[in-house]
Amino acid sequence: MRALYPGSFDPLTLGHLDLIDRAARLFDAVVVAVLQNPAKQPTFSLEQRLEQIRRATEGIPGIEVGHFDGLTVNYAQACEAQVILRGLRALSDFEFELQIAHTNQTLAPRVETLFMATAAHHSFLSSSVVKEVARFGGDVGHMVPAGVAIDLERLFNR
Ligand code: ADP
Repeated sequence: MRALYPGSFDPLTLGHLDLIDRAARLFDAVVVAVLQNPAKQPTFSLEQRLEQIRRATEGIPGIEVGHFDGLTVNYAQACEAQVILRGLRALSDFEFELQIAHTNQTLAPRVETLFMATAAHHSFLSSSVVKEVARFGGDVGHMVPAGVAIDLERLFNR
């Protein structure tokens, strides 16, 4: 079975990576795909985010990296994924995620949304927290893959 893990990944965190690693053990393939959301102005370009994901996942079998705009269910069908994966950190994620999952159900009933609980020690992590810490010179080594830490350093210490 193939799964699609969509997100902004702006940038990829160790929380995302942990979920990818665990999902790779459950599915034949996991497509990690960057959503180009016109409503969001990303910090990192699409190419940078794809490169961050490629580098961080190169040792994990069954990972494919892609990107899309438009409806997630359309992309799931295009890459033959039966499942859309989303991570749940806290109750605050739940309501929004459930709304999206229900919407996707009405658009494409055969594509299932599965939620995975994040690793407890990564549940505080978000791309925005990471950027906030890096912006003010804090250490993000325990929050992001090494390649992303370098990109953040370059971005904020110019
Ligand atoms: P989006 O803008 O689509 O929410 P994100 O990059 O913020 O994109 O998140 C992508 C997915 O990863 C979402 O399902 C989100 O819940 C999940 N996620 C975010 N942070 C973590 C984390 N620390 N651990 C595991 N999953 C996470």
